[in-house]
Amino acid sequence: MQFSAVIVAAGVGARAGPGEAKQWRRLAGRAVARWSAEALLAAGADELVVVIGEGQEDLARDAFAGLAGLRLEPGGAARSDSVKAGLAALAAPDDRVVLIHDAARPLLQVAHIRRLLDALEASPAGILALPLADTLKRDDGAGRIVDTPPRAGLWRAQTPQGFRLGALKAAYAAWPAGEEPTDEAIVVERAGGEVVLVPGDPALAKLTYPEDFAMAELIAGAARTLRIGQGLDAHRFGPGDSVWLCGVQIAHSHALVGHSDADAGLHAITDAVLGAIGEGDIGDHFPPTDPKWRGASSDQFLLHAAALVAARGGRIVNVDVTLVCERPKIKPHRQAMRERLAELLGLDLAAVSVKATTMEGMGFTGREEGLLAQAVAMVELPA
Ligand code: MG
Repeated sequence: MQFSAVIVAAGVGARAGPGEAKQWRRLAGRAVARWSAEALLAAGADELVVVIGEGQEDLARDAFAGLAGLRLEPGGAARSDSVKAGLAALAAPDDRVVLIHDAARPLLQVAHIRRLLDALEASPAGILALPLADTLKRDDGAGRIVDTPPRAGLWRAQTPQGFRLGALKAAYAAWPAGEEPTDEAIVVERAGGEVVLVPGDPALAKLTYPEDFAMAELIAGAARTLRIGQGLDAHRFGPGDSVWLCGVQIAHSHALVGHSDADAGLHAITDAVLGAIGEGDIGDHFPPTDPKWRGASSDQFLLHAAALVAARGGRIVNVDVTLVCERPKIKPHRQAMRERLAELLGLDLAAVSVKATTMEGMGFTGREEGLLAQAVAMVELPA
């Protein structure tokens, strides 16, 4: 089923404690809001709009670095203003399904999204929700129980919540000014629309208090598996006045010869990433026989491999590459290489290592016939 999606990430979330708003904090290494974005994109969202708060542009760009297929949109003062801004930014037709999701529910999985979409085949609208398991108590305002309301038939609403775009817009247009809805379903219910309940997941609980983060870290870690890949590449020196290594151009007495820009560092890292996800090697994805890749910047090879990881709901944890050559000297350029790789992969600098060594005059690198690069990459995937 085709669908569009809006992630509401404009909140301030004061209850989660001091520091930046909770949707931009890190959970198992990724921004809270990024988890949901990756799940919605992996589930096949045609368009994804993330509504952010005023002054959160830099945090958002950082959080979604290297993730293609989403747009940022400024939100409003209240949550409903942000949802409306997100809906207005969608290009989809009125009969398209749109899923609205809270950024503060990061443990969204493709399976949750599919379950909701399946229900929307038969129903105009639906939400993920959980039947209440705990007994309810009402207090007197001073911690003493005054009532035990029956819980039969009561559910906890979660997100995503799914609707037809036109119907949701119309329902919002009819919503009374001055009243703030707590979710989208109530807006459609009030407009007389039918909304079905679809079994949710305790893991979709909203991160509200500091202790919620500790629980989410445990769940996030348990639901992931680690893979490692290695890559090796060599290129011959030939006529020229510079080499490309790890995405950085270095002046040198020779160039590296190859079909593309011959960046052996990027090629080795690309193969390491492909190896970690069992996706063959760089030649399978970018055949050297294809004239399209003649002289190509190797950035795109690595970005392609990273996109394959992201498409599986995974992420690259770290990369480590060793360049083997007598010359050029790598050390003066090492920091620039790390920065370029970190930028390409959306990683922290600490997760990117570039090392260099010589073979003390031995072998083809020792004779300066060519340069060798060897890399490893660690990738984290949904278990
Ligand atoms: Mg190569």
